[in-house]
Amino acid sequence: MSSDPNCIFCKIIAAEVPAAVVYEDDSVLAFLDIGPLADGHLLVVPHEHYIRLTDVPPERCAQMASVLPFLGRAVLEVTKAEGFNVLLNQGTVAGQAVPHIHFHIIPRKKDDLLGYRWNSGKYPEGRAAQLASAYQAALARLAS
Ligand code: AMP
Ligand code: ZN
Repeated sequence: MSSDPNCIFCKIIAAEVPAAVVYEDDSVLAFLDIGPLADGHLLVVPHEHYIRLTDVPPERCAQMASVLPFLGRAVLEVTKAEGFNVLLNQGTVAGQAVPHIHFHIIPRKKDDLLGYRWNSGKYPEGRAAQLASAYQAALARLAS
């Protein structure tokens, strides 16, 4: 199984570095984020060291995603949050600081002052259709 001796999350998985672990199965570990955006903020990491989501085999990704409903229910119960955000940052430009992929589960409460600059835009005429065909062509190539 792939692991990086310099990776903080690989060290947590190997129990070389302590963490507040809440869940573990054959392929996934979940623990409290050491710098929580909200009380009870969790990280869900695959045992295997993958830097990017786009490197993860689908079955591994499915294993990781499959625990989200279960962990999400625990987040709601334990933190009394009204909802949560599931977030994965890929690349430093997107805010990825630890190069071992992880889902964040961030509990949300009304007026918690968390959130995004969700500055939604509007496509000019023709751009959405152009993008949809570019995606369809790229996906057909990537699937072959
Ligand atoms: P990201 O910016 O998406 O790569 O998120 C990395 C997250 O890992 C941050 O929210 C950090 O607070 C968290 N983190 C870094 N080191 C540790 C650690 N030793 N134990 C728990 N969480 C950590
Ligand atoms: Zn790692």
